[in-house]
Amino acid sequence: MTSDQIQRVARQRIETEHLFGQPFLPPPDRAPTGSISGTSEALSAATGGALEPLEEVESRFRSVFPLGAGLAEATQPVFGEGNPVADLMFVGEAPGADEDRLGRPFVGAAGKKLDEIINAMGFLRSDVYIANILKSRPPGNRAPLPDEVADHGPFLKAQIRAIQPRVIVALGRPSAHFLLSSTDSMSRLRGVWGYWDDEGLRIPVMPTYHPAYVLRRYTQEVRAQVWSDMQQVIAKLQET
Ligand code: URA
Repeated sequence: MTSDQIQRVARQRIETEHLFGQPFLPPPDRAPTGSISGTSEALSAATGGALEPLEEVESRFRSVFPLGAGLAEATQPVFGEGNPVADLMFVGEAPGADEDRLGRPFVGAAGKKLDEIINAMGFLRSDVYIANILKSRPPGNRAPLPDEVADHGPFLKAQIRAIQPRVIVALGRPSAHFLLSSTDSMSRLRGVWGYWDDEGLRIPVMPTYHPAYVLRRYTQEVRAQVWSDMQQVIAKLQET
């Protein structure tokens, strides 16, 4: 094993035991590696070559920021970040105060919990891609309004098309509802594979509880449920 792999496994062991209270550790030779999926040529052929690069999606959003009268207090776009060809993408709800200040998704308390989850899965944050439905902070961290989801959703859609992850994790209800076109409760949705179907692109989606919810309800039951969901994600990524 290289020193990078040894560090990953050590981090994974610490986070798994600390976060989920469970001594789960995948054998190192089967641990996910954050490899690149590289299916863009196939997709671009399937869509007649009309694949908008991620940077163009971002600059298109920047030109319309904050996109929504109710989002005027947002100070800067929080477009998303990470590996532009990630196998694994996480989609949350909307930036909060910390994210708005730094222009980066999931950097506050919920973000630290998400980092722990990512590390427990055997990945680094830089291996995956992290985005939200809304790219501008709603005032007072209120939930996104339906017209805001309708306005910002197409940018997330374009982001997913550009990245083409092999698996998407929907963090919390707004994300699960948007990605799965569902109105079910999270307790029904979580742990069950759904699909993001969009113009020839079909990506498995695993809904799970939002890290902020895990922080609020830090019970053994919730932690075990999230870990079980993430184990399904690891297994899916290990399928060839
Ligand atoms: N919650 C989210 O859904 N997204 C963030 O970026 C931060 C907190």
